[in-house]
Amino acid sequence: MYEPLSDTAGPPAVYVNGAPPPPATQPLDGHRQVAVAVIGAGFTGLSTGLHLASSGIEVAVLEANEIGWGASGRAFGQVVPYLKPGEDAIIRHYGSERGERIIDAVAAGPDLVFELISRHGIECWAMRSGLIFAAHSPSGQRDLERRTAFWQRCDAPVEMLEGARCAETIGSSLYRAASLDRRGGNINPFAYARGLANAAVAAGAAIHTNAKVRGLARRDGRWVVDVGNASVAADAVVLATNAYTGDLWPGLRESVIPMRGHGFVTEPLSDNLRHTILPERQSLTDTRRLYSGVRMLPDGRLHASAHGPSFGAEPRPDWRRVDARIRRLYPQLGALRWQQGWSGWVAMTTDHFPRLHELAPGLFAGLGYNGRGIAAATMMGRDLAALVRGARDETAFPLTPLRPLGWHRVAPTLIRGLVQTYRVRDVIDEVRLRRTA
Ligand SMILES: Cc1cc2nc3c(=O)[nH]c(=O)nc-3n(C[C@H](O)[C@H](O)[C@H](O)COP(=O)(O)OP(=O)(O)OC[C@H]3O[C@@H](n4cnc5c(N)ncnc54)[C@H](O)[C@@H]3O)c2cc1C
Repeated sequence: MYEPLSDTAGPPAVYVNGAPPPPATQPLDGHRQVAVAVIGAGFTGLSTGLHLASSGIEVAVLEANEIGWGASGRAFGQVVPYLKPGEDAIIRHYGSERGERIIDAVAAGPDLVFELISRHGIECWAMRSGLIFAAHSPSGQRDLERRTAFWQRCDAPVEMLEGARCAETIGSSLYRAASLDRRGGNINPFAYARGLANAAVAAGAAIHTNAKVRGLARRDGRWVVDVGNASVAADAVVLATNAYTGDLWPGLRESVIPMRGHGFVTEPLSDNLRHTILPERQSLTDTRRLYSGVRMLPDGRLHASAHGPSFGAEPRPDWRRVDARIRRLYPQLGALRWQQGWSGWVAMTTDHFPRLHELAPGLFAGLGYNGRGIAAATMMGRDLAALVRGARDETAFPLTPLRPLGWHRVAPTLIRGLVQTYRVRDVIDEVRLRRTA
């Protein structure tokens, strides 16, 4: 039986305290008429709202909680120019024409994000200092070398770091090689969500928070969005609920697998220690099967992301695993004072590609970013806005039919088994890496 999504706590205080105020939002009362209703105020919904409002289209964004409450306000903060599958896999899956278009669009994702940040003056710790991807094994190193060579042929600012240069840039001698991709960067994702919301409202969008949509119906050629004691009639509706998707449309929830991602921050490190970690302020991930990341926040806190537990009700933060990993990586830190832990849901797909759907005439959805949605969801929002305007040939991802997964209810059981296998293989690889470091 699939355990229900459960979250009571909102985005972490460390992000909320570093964010601009949200725009003034009006409660949704009575019955409203708009051209487009967008459901969900994360990056997908806010970017859709901003792009529609900027083209002069009347749009209302409806959010069950508050702006950026879902994964968008809890993300690690890396703005990445790639998907999980490599460039060869993208071409194999989509063919060369569509595949190249997707590769180019995804590579330009950070440009879109940092351009929006700069155009709308969004204060969100934006730093385009690059992303470090370290090799945790010889096969990981070969993968990174292949990817780096691919991007260098495209004249992208991506390079391999080896030996002393690798150790200096990371601030640790654990890894022997890494790839540095200067196209990417890091942000406070909750602050970015609020900034997108402010920009959308300034462009003319309405945002209604505490407006949980309970039903969708087609009446007299329009969509009627039911919000309990209020409703919205719209010519088009965009579902932007990603991993938090409920029962609004049959089969949509079952088309992705929600998995938890976790974040942790320490108290600010002392001045002499904070400069030894990632001194150029890139963020670091590696090629292990289970995701983990490290970066330094502007006030000197160390921020780590880690895997698991992947399912179930909101767990207590599990410091032990992340603490052990950071101590192995940065032994100079000694005992760490962890201060906050949180989690949020990411929407996984079986092939690790996002989905763009037209579920019915005038009803669209974009979701399934597999934990890499800051740039991809911003881009998806722009493309959903293009679809609503009728510009069907402008989207990076193609429209595909909805495919609910027949084994969705047993997904946690199957995936827990897979995660355990990955964990063991990652530990074996890491022991080998430490022996050779
Ligand atoms: C811990 C963690 C770390 C991550 N790290 C990164 C990273 O470093 N880089 C990266 O690129 N990506 C990262 N991601 C993924 C990224 O955060 C997501 O892909 C992205 O935020 C998805 O945005 P979204 O707008 O589609 O969904 P969400 O931000 O989840 O928004 C969906 C919204 O829909 C609302 N909603 C749901 N149902 C209803 C309803 N019935 N009525 C009204 N509103 C509704 C929810 O309240 C929610 O606010 C991470 C995610 C997590 C959880």
